[in-house]
Amino acid sequence: MNRITILPSDVSQKIAAGEVIERPFSVVKELVENSLDAQATEIKVEIVEGGKRLLRVTDNGYGMSRDDALLAFERHSTSKISTEADLDHIRTLGFRGEALPSISAVSHIILQTSEKNGSSGTLIEREGEEVHRVEDIAFPQGTSIEVADLFFNLPVRKKFLRSERSELGQVVKYLTQAALASPEVRISLYHGKRKVFDYPRVGQLKERIFQVHGGDIIDRILEVDYKDGHLALFGYASRPPTGRRDRKQQFFYVNNRPVKDKTLQAALNQSYKSFLEKDHFAEAFLFLSLPLFDVDVNVHPTKTEVKFIDSSAIFRFVHRSLEQALLKAMGVKEIYPSQKEKTHEFFVSEFQKTPTSFGFKKRRPDEQALFPFPKSEKIEAIPVLGQYSNMYIVAAGKDELLIIDQHNAHERVLFDRYVEIDSQKKWPQKLALLPIVFDLSPSQIENFEGGRELLEGLGFRLEEMGGRSYALKEYPGIFKEDEAKDIFLSLLEDVQEERIEDKKHKLLATLACKTAVKAGEVLTREKMEYLVDELFKTSNFSLCPHGRPITVKIQKGEIEKGLKRAKN
Ligand code: ADP
Ligand code: MG
Repeated sequence: MNRITILPSDVSQKIAAGEVIERPFSVVKELVENSLDAQATEIKVEIVEGGKRLLRVTDNGYGMSRDDALLAFERHSTSKISTEADLDHIRTLGFRGEALPSISAVSHIILQTSEKNGSSGTLIEREGEEVHRVEDIAFPQGTSIEVADLFFNLPVRKKFLRSERSELGQVVKYLTQAALASPEVRISLYHGKRKVFDYPRVGQLKERIFQVHGGDIIDRILEVDYKDGHLALFGYASRPPTGRRDRKQQFFYVNNRPVKDKTLQAALNQSYKSFLEKDHFAEAFLFLSLPLFDVDVNVHPTKTEVKFIDSSAIFRFVHRSLEQALLKAMGVKEIYPSQKEKTHEFFVSEFQKTPTSFGFKKRRPDEQALFPFPKSEKIEAIPVLGQYSNMYIVAAGKDELLIIDQHNAHERVLFDRYVEIDSQKKWPQKLALLPIVFDLSPSQIENFEGGRELLEGLGFRLEEMGGRSYALKEYPGIFKEDEAKDIFLSLLEDVQEERIEDKKHKLLATLACKTAVKAGEVLTREKMEYLVDELFKTSNFSLCPHGRPITVKIQKGEIEKGLKRAKN
């Protein structure tokens, strides 16, 4: 029995499109890459309703002839490579000839282009697989591509599109990354009538970083500039001791292509490990250059990952480059500032004042029998045996030994407490001694606007100071003032979640994570006892709010077996 048929072209085109085009930002990405490949010095991106209704990318690149413009919509049509051998040395951002056919398969598209100013331009209008118009037009040199009604013929995909703000957020994020790689290109973004940003051309990466992130950042970063043979690393990264509480400001580029890469990320984090406080990470804008044939860029449908031929050599090189930069900036004698013990307030002062409901109640070990905690009546106390490796609390269960991750456990305890405070809307608010003033990037501003209400609900009050500057005037009184800004910036990343409950969960989980004891912290017996008691009162003592396990149990039977004490 024959079962196989070849799919009709419109079906296979839609399937192929799904690989490359997931949402509006992926269209923007492909179009902007084409503009950059066409050597544009000005790129304007306009989007309506987060790009779901309409998006347009206009450039002043070298444009297309009529024949090329028609051909560009055919699958595997490209001017960027022509033989298999070319795959070994791809210089351009695009090379597969898939973007335009993919985009046009799932939208209404109007392309206007001209190779030189004047009347010899071309307009092509298509809808899915159909060509509606091909006309002569007068057009300045360059190309403009307008994409309307994305996924009009793929209702399932369309259903997965998120809110206008969330799609816009992704566009801003991608364009920010692209803008950093091309300071010599003017890049602007308009959402409806609103100008989100317009970065004029500048000569250097540092100036572009300044345009994107505002003035503060310049004091926080140091230059990295290192070469060895065919390898070079250039860019900027955190100047210790400043760092962030998350890894979200780490941008990597390989031969100027923005990428996500585990090797580069690991090299960065490793290099900074001894220079930053625990649980702090570097910000970074790092550009790695290497011979084209030492890296495969053809490994991912959306071209956001690469494969190094020798990734351990890359790791070592990047690590060495960063170390050099750090040592130079710090002066060799001053290295390892993080070795200074950071005294961490274990429990937050506000809560200490209300011992029965929230706080860490001080008690002597022998006190427990006389004055049990009000809530723990039903639960038998679990004796703490000690701390192992400054990370784990070892406790004695009835028939098992418990090894409890101190950070995850505290996270769970605090998370439950924060959920309770939040449901009663009783966040303690603290007034900053002096307003904490800082600049936000366009991406962060979008997140803030989208999550403002939630963040204010938690007790943050941020005032606009004009331009990109904001002043943090109040913050939730559950951490110290010098942590307020960092924690606020971490939370800004969480409000991108689509559903409000998810946002809330993430915000509270992040808050719990940032205020919990860290792995590596020495804990007193009292703190450990408190934590273990509280842990077993929580809603879920086996998983932290991020879904990681909290406790490992070793059954008494296992111990007996290992020691050959088992009674058979
Ligand atoms: P690829 O970028 O992989 O070559 P695309 O489908 O994105 O494939 O584009 C097909 C071709 O159309 C490109 O190779 C290029 O020649 C031409 N093209 C697309 N966009 C532009 C543009 N903005 N300016 C000039 N030429 C373009
Ligand atoms: Mg392309």
